[in-house]
Amino acid sequence: MQLTPEIKQQLAEQKKQCIFCKLISGEIPNAKKVFEDDKTIALLDIYPAVKGHTLFMLKEHYPMPAYVSKEELTHKLSLIPGLSQAIKSAMVRTGMNVFIAMGGVAGQQSYHFMLHLLPREPEDKFFNFLLKRNTKTSEEDKKNISDLLQKILPPSSTSGKSIIPSFLTKSTEAATILYEDEKILCLLPDEASAKGQITVYSKTEERFIEKLSQQDSAHLFETAFQASRAIFEAMRAQGTNILLFSGESDDNPSGRLAIHILPRWQNDSLSGLLWEPKRAAYDLDEIASKIKDKTWKIKFELQVKKEINASAEERVPSVLTSLSHSQQEIMQAIAQMRKS
Ligand SMILES: [Zn+2]
Repeated sequence: MQLTPEIKQQLAEQKKQCIFCKLISGEIPNAKKVFEDDKTIALLDIYPAVKGHTLFMLKEHYPMPAYVSKEELTHKLSLIPGLSQAIKSAMVRTGMNVFIAMGGVAGQQSYHFMLHLLPREPEDKFFNFLLKRNTKTSEEDKKNISDLLQKILPPSSTSGKSIIPSFLTKSTEAATILYEDEKILCLLPDEASAKGQITVYSKTEERFIEKLSQQDSAHLFETAFQASRAIFEAMRAQGTNILLFSGESDDNPSGRLAIHILPRWQNDSLSGLLWEPKRAAYDLDEIASKIKDKTWKIKFELQVKKEINASAEERVPSVLTSLSHSQQEIMQAIAQMRKS
């Protein structure tokens, strides 16, 4: 989107009132920071839906991804696997949700656009994301969504040949394939929790978001954003929720990695997705410090990747000496990275 002088003026007005901009600048103290780099920041939610609930956003104030440059958006989305890994390991959890609300009706509460990361485990008593399959999409709506997606997304690289990994064959049986490329599969399930609901799967990873490469994570979420755009236009939705499941929880017993894009309307049947804000019943500083102990690797990986790209592998040790963490942990981080 072209940021016209009028839009810039509007953003400046929003920024003056924005609590998150004030937390980021330090004007409001005590942000429960768990990660930051030059462009992004992750904070613990002081009204968590589950323990370790983290808010991840760009430092610059934007109300919607459509306002953000491709470069900034890709950068942010590429950090999700690392952040997810760090939160999960700090909280010792089996699963992760990424929840995104676009529009007030979908639960967007701030003009500062953000992602919610919710670490999950079986029997954690969080049932908001239990999706029913009781709604069908009309053939006309299906066609409209499909036509729009074909226009918005780049031409598929599979040249018309469908290549579905075996772990996804069952999911395609009761669904319409809207789009696929080498990395992702975009379906409209025959029965879903809302008409027009789209599901995006990774073809390269069956279960865990943190196992995706940075590039594949960005691609998966960017496709979900485009699917959300198609739903807004084709279904005339008033909002959308984007909800990622990864790893095991009561509402995702298979542990399957999937992103659902849910169209939202006033007084629809999906209001149960949202949670009542309640103050954390645990020490936020303690949890923030636990997660922070794990997130340093994210920046480290980015730094090393840049170094490797810039020149030969011999330069890696020079990066190591600039870090104060234990040699063993650093070597583990490199070993992990080389595998991916
Ligand atoms: Zn803001």
